[in-house]
Amino acid sequence: MRKPRIVVLGAGYGGLMTVTRLQKQLGTNEAEVILINKNDYHYETTWLHEASAGTLHHDRVRYDVKDVVNTSKVNFLQTTVDDIKVEEKKVITSQGEVEFDYLVIALGAESETFGIQGLHEHAFMISNVNSARQIREHIELQFATYKNEEVPKDERLTIVVGGAGFTGIEFLGELGNRVPELCKEYDIDRSKVRIVCVEAAPMILPGFDPELVKYARATLEKKGVEFHIGTPLKEAKAGSVLIAKSEDEVEEIKAGTIVWAAGVRGNRVIEKAGIENMRARVKINRDLRVPGHDNIFIIGDCSLMINEETERPYPPTAQIAMQQGEVCARNIAALLHGKDDLEEFTPDIKGTVCSLGENDAIGVVYGKKLTGTKASFMKKVVDNRALYMVGGPSLVFKKGKFKFF
Ligand code: FAD
Repeated sequence: MRKPRIVVLGAGYGGLMTVTRLQKQLGTNEAEVILINKNDYHYETTWLHEASAGTLHHDRVRYDVKDVVNTSKVNFLQTTVDDIKVEEKKVITSQGEVEFDYLVIALGAESETFGIQGLHEHAFMISNVNSARQIREHIELQFATYKNEEVPKDERLTIVVGGAGFTGIEFLGELGNRVPELCKEYDIDRSKVRIVCVEAAPMILPGFDPELVKYARATLEKKGVEFHIGTPLKEAKAGSVLIAKSEDEVEEIKAGTIVWAAGVRGNRVIEKAGIENMRARVKINRDLRVPGHDNIFIIGDCSLMINEETERPYPPTAQIAMQQGEVCARNIAALLHGKDDLEEFTPDIKGTVCSLGENDAIGVVYGKKLTGTKASFMKKVVDNRALYMVGGPSLVFKKGKFKFF
């Protein structure tokens, strides 16, 4: 008799947690496990703002999938998922079809542009290792080109960041550190460089404690970030953005670099597969399965769960994706062992820390507010913990962050 086949899509936080737990919980003869991922490496999505700004080399944010997956128990297939035929129990990849008995969709997020004109064409998005590398190289090229022009164009040195949520603020924090280094390297006066943040909401970091938000804004302003808050970005063009200062006043900011960091949606594969969704995120059952599909689990940024206390969706975070991965593995093992009362998932939010660049951050950890080096220390602990959870101490030694102060 054929062994049941479990197919896991995506080797991000959710997918790798599921697979590394399944390889511990299942015997070789109990099931065939296949992990499918676009690249042969995993990247720490939560570190991409550093690779994008150039404060951390992109090789530091990734490691080989085979470093953490036991290939005697898990078949790894490096290919792109194009579609899922839910009823036929098949995944369509660039290299052919893969049948499944149980499916875990952990394909992560994509940038959401809310229909704003020109963003796809003219803005960079912090989405993966390739985009991070391109942003870093592009910014550096602006500095190098500026020094090599007969008539230097100051606007080349303007960096516009759309969005003052978590990703936007963390990226601005890194830019605050990187820009002085670039100025030194290319002999450019710091006053020539503008770092501009445009945010439609009335505040930065919505949902964060107001005292910490005040600290974050003051810190970034000290690093030279200019905030335009309550100011929607209307359009991106080649070399500029249009921002709405009021209902009838639009200002153009000329910029050599435009980075859009203002929203995420689930993976487009979800929409293509025809699974009921909201912006490619699926409202899953508490046991992490798709309503009406008892053999399909969705975890991480492609899933949507409502926090019953606030009646709002939980934010898409690595913390939740990893916790879901653990429960997902236990639930699949339970199904294989003939149990049908599956574990219900409840996020255990230990805290949130937002980096403001090297050695500075804000955060709430176990209910305690932190700022500065203490918060930054905690951020590195959280980053190292994510490595430990997937790859144990050897991965922490290989890829961890140990420069605490
Ligand atoms: P991911 O970890 O993104 O993994 C998805 C995987 O699927 C990737 O390996 C990708 O290559 C693969 N994939 C995608 N499409 C395909 C395809 N078609 N075929 C094959 N493979 C595919 N969260 C926190 O909790 N704390 C933080 O401090 C934090 N900081 C962040 C900072 C930044 C700059 C960003 C961008 C996000 C941050 N987040 C943070 C959010 C967090 O990174 C995500 O919530 C988390 O990555 C979601 O995990 P996931 O498993 O759903 O997807």
